[in-house]
Amino acid sequence: MKIGMGTRQDVGGVSVPVDHLIGGSWVSSPQRFETRSPMGWEHLADIARGDDATADAAVAAAVEGFEAWSAFSVGERADALHRLADLIEARNDDIALVETLDMGFLYESMKQRLVARGALNFRTYADLITEHENSTWDAKSMRNQVQRMPAGPAVVITPWNAPFMLSTWKLAPALAAGNSVIHKPAEWSPLSAALLAELTLEAGFPPGAYNLVQGIGEEVGAALVADPRVRRITFTGSPETARHIGRAAAANIVPFTAELGGKGPFVVFADADLDAAAHRAAWQFDDSGQVCLAGTRLLVAAEIRDEFLERFHHHADALVLGDPRDPATDIAPLAHPDHRDRVHGFVERAREAGDIVVRGGQPIDGSLHYQPTLIEPVSNDSEVVQREIFGPVLTLQTFADEAEAIALANSTDYGLSAQIWTASQSRAERVGAAVRAGLVWVNTFLVRDLTAPFGGCGISGIGREGGDYALDFHSDIKTLMILDDTTK
Ligand code: ADP
Repeated sequence: MKIGMGTRQDVGGVSVPVDHLIGGSWVSSPQRFETRSPMGWEHLADIARGDDATADAAVAAAVEGFEAWSAFSVGERADALHRLADLIEARNDDIALVETLDMGFLYESMKQRLVARGALNFRTYADLITEHENSTWDAKSMRNQVQRMPAGPAVVITPWNAPFMLSTWKLAPALAAGNSVIHKPAEWSPLSAALLAELTLEAGFPPGAYNLVQGIGEEVGAALVADPRVRRITFTGSPETARHIGRAAAANIVPFTAELGGKGPFVVFADADLDAAAHRAAWQFDDSGQVCLAGTRLLVAAEIRDEFLERFHHHADALVLGDPRDPATDIAPLAHPDHRDRVHGFVERAREAGDIVVRGGQPIDGSLHYQPTLIEPVSNDSEVVQREIFGPVLTLQTFADEAEAIALANSTDYGLSAQIWTASQSRAERVGAAVRAGLVWVNTFLVRDLTAPFGGCGISGIGREGGDYALDFHSDIKTLMILDDTTK
């Protein structure tokens, strides 16, 4: 490893650091890995490929950074988070473009919504820690006071599907709580994190408060989560990886949260606004289905199946597949050829198993696009019903009554999100209460206040993020009890 000014590469006209950021300095690695664009699979940049020594140095820096950062007053910490949010807003276009090139996210969507949401994550937590008062009460002749103590260095491991937004979402509460962080972005989409790292320097974070480690999950990611100096681990990715991380966390008795995707039911009752439901159903193809919250299992009342399907096709036919830089594009390519092959593997196995492919079902030659696909499975046990595909592939099943709708909705090992489409308030409440999911939307989708809890049941995850839930996770919570006499 050598410490210097850091290597930079030009990505679509934006100069992007391609090293690690450790203890406030750019640090290289003897090896690099390449990142390519889903558009044309063009080479974008060669990124430092962290190893055990990188992980060791990053955790050491985070231990030092923790001393400095946790000593900031709440007001100073909040100011630094607001400064970072200001800088993110000022670099909106660059972040949006780099993310679009790196993983294929729609440029307009990034520019209009996701970068701003990233800044808002930091502002929300800056405000939450400022507003928070330690709770104090008198009981049993004592003054009781509950305090949150910063827990220590936190490892934050983020996925490739909405890299910038999901990184800020996980980093903001960790930093707001007073923890230093070691951020390991996904190797398929490392670039927007590099811009964020640079902004933490500009925002005046003390060295080691925010550290960026680039590299491969099984290599430097595994080394980071195994380090006993780490006091929190927060992860978004697959259940398989969560099992590895969970074992490492258990070995060191470290709390971890995991957000692991879903197989969301999209339940349409006969009394629903059918066109609104069908329109939204077609929009589950958004981001080429690379959305953990997506309602991928369409569960439709049997008596409206044909009408719903007709409207669904109408809306799906209108979706424009294209280059994510083009504002006319609705559906971008998948992020990686391996992922395209994985998605197609699910569809091929479904065909072999006798499931009916109602629309789509093929990759589009010469690109990483995959046709928006709808499958009617022969059985609820079909692989396409039970496993997360993370591509533009939905299934369609019918139900006879409310009880069957609920049973089908709850029939997978996942439990992240659910959507219910109905005109009946009482049914919305009944079915909403019966569905096993961390997030249930009725007649809407995706909108969430940042202070509301977020997380999944079953293999969709462990723990809850959002608002105070994430601050509690990142803190060691203390009860201070002082005998009444002392306080008089
Ligand atoms: P996906 O299957 O969607 O690519 P992964 O769970 O493999 O999701 O990856 C999500 C994140 O976890 C990425 O940042 C990846 O580098 C990281 N990762 C993968 N394997 C490990 C591991 N064994 N230890 C720590 N992090 C890992």
